[in-house]
Amino acid sequence: MGLRFFNIRVRMVLTLRTMRRLLCLIPWMGLLVSAVQGQSPPSEARIHYTHRGELTTPAFRIGEECYVALARINELNWSAVVAGSRVTVTAGPHKVTVAPKFHQGQTLIPLGAVLKELGGGTGWAQDDRTFEVWSEVIEIGVEDGSIRIKTSLDVRPSWLRLEGPAGLALDLSGARLTSRSKIGTSGSALVRQATPQTVRILFDKSSPAEPRKALPDLLREWEVPIVPAKGPEPARTPPETRSTGAKEPIQAPPPASLATAPEPSLGGSPAGVEWEPWDKQPPKWSGPLSPQAGPVRMTSDGPQSGSMLLKLSGPLPDAARFTRPEPSVLEIVLPRTRWSADALAGFRSASIKEAVIENRGKEAVLRLTLVRPMGLQLAHEPDGIHLTLIKPNVGDGKLAGKVVVVDAGHGGHDTGARSPDKKLNEKDLALAIANLTAKRLSEQGATVVLTRKGDQFIALKERSEIANRNGAHFFLSVHINSNQVANSSTGGITFYHQQDPVGMLLADCIQGEIAKVSGLPNLGTWSDRRIYETGFAVLRYAKMPAVLIEMGFINNSKDRARMSTADFKEKVAGAIVQGLRAYLGDGKQED
Ligand SMILES: [Zn+2]
Repeated sequence: MGLRFFNIRVRMVLTLRTMRRLLCLIPWMGLLVSAVQGQSPPSEARIHYTHRGELTTPAFRIGEECYVALARINELNWSAVVAGSRVTVTAGPHKVTVAPKFHQGQTLIPLGAVLKELGGGTGWAQDDRTFEVWSEVIEIGVEDGSIRIKTSLDVRPSWLRLEGPAGLALDLSGARLTSRSKIGTSGSALVRQATPQTVRILFDKSSPAEPRKALPDLLREWEVPIVPAKGPEPARTPPETRSTGAKEPIQAPPPASLATAPEPSLGGSPAGVEWEPWDKQPPKWSGPLSPQAGPVRMTSDGPQSGSMLLKLSGPLPDAARFTRPEPSVLEIVLPRTRWSADALAGFRSASIKEAVIENRGKEAVLRLTLVRPMGLQLAHEPDGIHLTLIKPNVGDGKLAGKVVVVDAGHGGHDTGARSPDKKLNEKDLALAIANLTAKRLSEQGATVVLTRKGDQFIALKERSEIANRNGAHFFLSVHINSNQVANSSTGGITFYHQQDPVGMLLADCIQGEIAKVSGLPNLGTWSDRRIYETGFAVLRYAKMPAVLIEMGFINNSKDRARMSTADFKEKVAGAIVQGLRAYLGDGKQED
């Protein structure tokens, strides 16, 4: 009984739903008819969308409008809600309600109508099939030591080094100048439409603009100070001209130095704005900006640290990095950069024995041979790379007399990692290597404190506290690695804490020596942040230079066989001692 009654109800609901659906379709069918009858039938189209270039999103041209499927507008980072015969599109903070069309079972959204509300410019390219979308330049001002850019949609900025008369250009990809664009330049810059989708700000070569802030990936409203032009003071637009709020483009005097350069047709267009058709003037640039590096100079040199500035003509396309091929050698690598010829002219430093510059492929390399091992920090600043040399306190530079805490990992109920057959425990192998290291260090005259001498459990924090309480100069923690899959990894790693430049130096010195004798692959030195965001507890709490050494993988049969040998344990213990001596500059015949 109950079942039958239920069936009837379901059938009634379905019928109502079907009817509602049919009613909903009526206005849509009307739209479809208007699309086909009133205008040319939909034809397939492409979209060239601002800085994003050509989209893969299918599009249709109906009359002068370009339509995209409702189901695909997420590709424009939009969302939409259909309500009756209207669609409300949400684009960032904006909501735009438009009338859709219906074609081949799809709901189509008029792209031009939405973009008009968002302030974007649209139009069909000459091929009649490409719908171009651009960001209108609302304002560009290069004056009073700053660049000011305002556009209606996001544009992608990039610096370019030009071969022509102008030295540096800032390209705004996806942007177009219109008659409403407000352009104001001090005379040291020129604004032009370089391609239909690129607005270029050309800076006078005699006054290279140097941004004080890294370029954002995308911008819509941006103001950034630039280093004032060198040489003669550029003519500045009087402040009252800028503050009129006039909708007309600001009339700036034509830039004299650019007017004499072979950049044609500067006259005839509003000063500071060039309306050169892009196809008649193929842009001439040498690819993405490759800044020039140099000069290199020492800005300060004290007993604990030294500062250097490596000047750059523009921002680096990629981050600078450094390597330490030897404890006393640092190589600073600037990607896609060239050295200026006299970058090292007049360079002198009491901390550096030798400085060499080299263009290696697309990289500019500065090789510094230091008077002794030092830590290094790099900072990217708008004027170039700031290098800080950290000179660790090594006392008399001798291992003898130093206090070294050697920490054998795990212990007691904490076995650490285990071999797959459970016969070999990390805690035992680590203790054996720690004890051998302690013996070697004592022989060299160092005072050694072992966190554990036997098989006992010690909390992580207590291990570093032992070092802190004893006023240790070094904390060395010995471990054996393991991972999820047996035999999938091999080799040794020495960890330092976070970004600690002195810990990194100590790790480089020790791992470099271990790699020479271990017979296992060298996986290098790693920040402990690669494992845990807060790093390893034993390194975090230690107040002195501290490293954690993972000798090899206990779940790799080759590593295990090698690490089990007396030869391995003896040699890595000796290598740890050698690494400490390298760090201290001990035993080196420097003079
Ligand atoms: Zn461990």
